[in-house]
Amino acid sequence: MSAPRLEIDLDKIRHNARTLVARLAGRGIWVTGVTKATLGSPAVAGALLSAGVKVLGDSRIENIEALRRARVPASMILLRAPMLSQATRVVAHADVSFNTEIDVIRALSSAAQASGRRHGVVLMVELGDLREGIMPGDLEHAARETLGLPNIALRGIGTNLACRSGVSPDARNMAELSALADSLDAALGQRVGIVSGGNSANLDWALGAADTGRINNLRLGESILLGREPLRRSPIDGLHCDAISLVAEVIESSTKPSRPWGTLAETAFGTPPPSADRGDASQVIFALGRQDTDPEGLHAPPGIAILGASSDHLVADSGHDRLSVGAEIRFQLDYSALLHAMTSPFVAKIMRTPAHAEPHDRPRRDLPRGILPRAGRIGAPRSVVSRPHV
Ligand SMILES: *Cc1c(COP(=O)(O)O)cnc(C)c1O
Repeated sequence: MSAPRLEIDLDKIRHNARTLVARLAGRGIWVTGVTKATLGSPAVAGALLSAGVKVLGDSRIENIEALRRARVPASMILLRAPMLSQATRVVAHADVSFNTEIDVIRALSSAAQASGRRHGVVLMVELGDLREGIMPGDLEHAARETLGLPNIALRGIGTNLACRSGVSPDARNMAELSALADSLDAALGQRVGIVSGGNSANLDWALGAADTGRINNLRLGESILLGREPLRRSPIDGLHCDAISLVAEVIESSTKPSRPWGTLAETAFGTPPPSADRGDASQVIFALGRQDTDPEGLHAPPGIAILGASSDHLVADSGHDRLSVGAEIRFQLDYSALLHAMTSPFVAKIMRTPAHAEPHDRPRRDLPRGILPRAGRIGAPRSVVSRPHV
């Protein structure tokens, strides 16, 4: 099988999504399943929908277009504010978009009129993380302008925290979002529908003791795919953290000194050269580099220590084990490593359902037709390989 490759276990992703959907439902919150880290994979989208995710969200219109081409039956939200230059595409393929600029909403309105559609708008509010969002004091004005635009429906408000500055979602900023929804209701004389509190970083807050107030939606990507909450990257109880892994192949294995020799200058990526002298070491090279993933975000299996990486080589110490050339090793990934690997044309993406899956889990009649590969023989692993297109 080709390497490097991402192996994506759809059953584990579905389990993670189903668990979070159920826990949040108990708090009055429905889930937008975020597909951007998988480049809008229709197979992953199918797993999310079969787990009870109501709506799909992606930050790139290209991914939403890919989901539409694959006929994924779901409403879709563009999570990043649309580019003015993409207004027509956004209206054609996304049901709703998150917005912060009235000029863009006007362009969406024109595009919607031209194509005879109605486009939903969620206004994003800045609550301290200093990424996207209308300042709270300007929200009512933006909402009034939005309401006045033809072929545009004001669907709600939302906020995004943690991503840029690490501001944690908490009782205070979430109560502020609830209060904004209440005051918009009063000012506009109509109820704000969607109140979207944030992303995976909101889970601690949402599943904790605090009152969830008006917040009725979260947009979840990382927590479903990697089973971790992003504030401290700790595993979420009951979720799989290994739904996605990266397999790489050994291309050199030898015993080498642990310290370089010669006159030392800058390395290819400015990282410091090895300094400690640990004598001779079992050094392996994997055919994997910065053009495939973010090496800092890889976790090697026990016994293997990553020493460094350049564009195409990942150098590791294999300790007492001498790995042979051609051996394959499985790495776990953090969000950054996942994002880079998914985006690299050199990394194959393999969707699989492992042989040990419960027989009653298949064939999967609960899935929308056409979303996933047809069920194989019970007990037989099956996989779909997308070839690297280089
Ligand atoms: C990526 C993104 C999300 C999902 O974030 P995760 O941390 O992966 O759950 C939610 N909202 C917006 C606006 C995003 O861009």
